[in-house]
Amino acid sequence: MQLGPSDLSTTSKFPQDADSLPPVAAIVIIEDDPHIRRLAAEALAANGHHLETAGSALEGLKLVVATKPELVILDLGLPDLDGAELLRMLRAVTRVPVIVTTAREGDQHVVGTLDAGADDYLTKPYSVAQLEARVRALMRRSEQPGAAATLVVGELAIDRAAREATLAGTILDLSPKEFDLLMLLADRAGEVVSKREMLAEVWRQPYGGGDRTVDVHLSSLRAKLGESARRPRYLHTVHGVGVKLSAPSGETGR
Ligand code: CA
Repeated sequence: MQLGPSDLSTTSKFPQDADSLPPVAAIVIIEDDPHIRRLAAEALAANGHHLETAGSALEGLKLVVATKPELVILDLGLPDLDGAELLRMLRAVTRVPVIVTTAREGDQHVVGTLDAGADDYLTKPYSVAQLEARVRALMRRSEQPGAAATLVVGELAIDRAAREATLAGTILDLSPKEFDLLMLLADRAGEVVSKREMLAEVWRQPYGGGDRTVDVHLSSLRAKLGESARRPRYLHTVHGVGVKLSAPSGETGR
């Protein structure tokens, strides 16, 4: 009996080649607008994801705890509890990736939400295509099939799965965004990463407008690494271009 390509595509539900199909996930949508909830759920279900939905914060919290999803889409404007409050409650019990959706504008609000533990955000009104793209990107990031589990540069070690970074064996107390920023720079150690790339990769703002956000996070990251822009060890500013992470001279790389 011959096994052709068509047989493979029907029998192999989870192919070894992770590039051939986007990953599917169990997703919980917490959204009080029934119209948006239905459209988002239908679109993601059509992509093969498994969907559960809740119309209030408390219903959503129960659902997440009970079903342990791989991704949560959370509306910040909920009738019974502020979505940001629910996000803090979720973060106390789970590290599940969370995309927040919000009608509220403003950099400060978005930065606050991301620092509170959201992995990404969408401003309403958003298109189904935008939602699908964010879900795909987040699933890819959390899978990281080809990536090393722990990145080591000099005395800096970054454990992707545990989301924990250590310097000379001491755990660094980093916010979620500081961790993501450090991981991005360490992933590309030796290369200059531009602020625009940092905004796109860490804050999902590819079109700029948040330079100060990057500067503030870089500065606090430097402080936590025990260095400064004037006396760099790992984070080197390349003026007009960006920032390069490299091991201090005299220390070995990976
Ligand atoms: Ca709402």
